[in-house]
Amino acid sequence: MHKFWGTFFLLVLLISCKQESQISTDTEITQETLSQVSLPETQFGFTLSDFIIVQDTVRKGDSFGKLMQNNNVDYPKIAKVSEKYRDTFDVRKIRVGTPYLILKAKDTLEKAQVFVYQNDLINYTVIDFRDSVNVYKDRREVKYVRREAAGVIESSLSEAILDQGIDYNVTNNLSDIYAWTIDFFRLQKGDKFKVIYNEKYINDTIYAGAEPIEAAYFEHNGTPLYAFAYESDSLKNIVDYFDEEANNLRRTFLRAPVKFSRISSRYNLKRRIRYYGYKVRPHKGTDYAAPVGTPIMATADGTITESNRKGGNGKYVKIRHNGTYSTQYLHMKNQKVKRGEFVRQGDVIGWVGMTGNTGGPHVCYRFWKNGRQVDPFKEKLPAAEPLPEDIRQDYFEYIGPQKSELDCIEFPDNPEVDLITMN
Ligand SMILES: [Zn+2]
Repeated sequence: MHKFWGTFFLLVLLISCKQESQISTDTEITQETLSQVSLPETQFGFTLSDFIIVQDTVRKGDSFGKLMQNNNVDYPKIAKVSEKYRDTFDVRKIRVGTPYLILKAKDTLEKAQVFVYQNDLINYTVIDFRDSVNVYKDRREVKYVRREAAGVIESSLSEAILDQGIDYNVTNNLSDIYAWTIDFFRLQKGDKFKVIYNEKYINDTIYAGAEPIEAAYFEHNGTPLYAFAYESDSLKNIVDYFDEEANNLRRTFLRAPVKFSRISSRYNLKRRIRYYGYKVRPHKGTDYAAPVGTPIMATADGTITESNRKGGNGKYVKIRHNGTYSTQYLHMKNQKVKRGEFVRQGDVIGWVGMTGNTGGPHVCYRFWKNGRQVDPFKEKLPAAEPLPEDIRQDYFEYIGPQKSELDCIEFPDNPEVDLITMN
């Protein structure tokens, strides 16, 4: 079973119409190998040739105190860091596997002068022991490289293909953008997409992740769907995705209450089950098979009206979204919410389990409209807030060049799909 729909993708990098030079994915360097990279002369604000350099990662059993004592730092200075600078650097929270640098004096004592803890690829913390102790955080300089990618979807590509050099977060991001408008459980062979986003690099070579997608194009079943990131509310810092006509891509309901699962049984009023002697046993929900413990999300904002355990339903939650719609989620391992609580779309309300009548771990998702259970896939779900009239002109001006750039990206003529073993 595919864990996420991203595995259906063949991702192919393309050079844009403008023939921009792009950094090859070969330069991708993970955090583990960071410590083996030869260091440039100046790093973290220090001239490295002035010191004896120790590069390592925090190991199991290491403590900040022990590391510093091993490098001849006086105890009062170590104590000062742990007591006075807890907000900047909590010595109890150093993580195994995190790279660090110790800059030692070039003399007979070889005392540690500076300790640099690399919180992540971009952020670091400096503990400077040279005069009185000084502790501060800083960031490395990040270079943004614009990247374009396009791909054609195949129905059953193995997960290995995901490893094409595109950040997993981009795939994830793309699924979020279109979560409301495309039924990812019904992707067609030949569906296509394009994305534009920025990659972050440190020292021009160390890959440090992808920024959110700026613009995307998805062609599902021959129907094109554009998406442009736009700050619709600069006061609240809200970025949403809109199409070329300024319609919000978000709907009031998510398409599914779980990410990366598969539908094991659809809404079907004429379902016949062998177990019941092939008698008609209507199924008024949509079953999403997923491992026990998978988070279940509220598909829309609303108030919890039930969080119970009852017969065949097992542990379940019901949410009232408005006067028209309610949703219900059955067979949970556990609920995370109580009656009366207000939840936002995407909030985790419980976890996939096997309580009640169920042959395997799944969530049975029931969609109520005016007190009757309906098939959410047949409902035309209402769109979220459109872009306000007064900023539409700005929006159209902003997306003009983005749309041209998207249109300019070519799909691979001859996807290498045939070369890959399908499973
Ligand atoms: Zn069901």
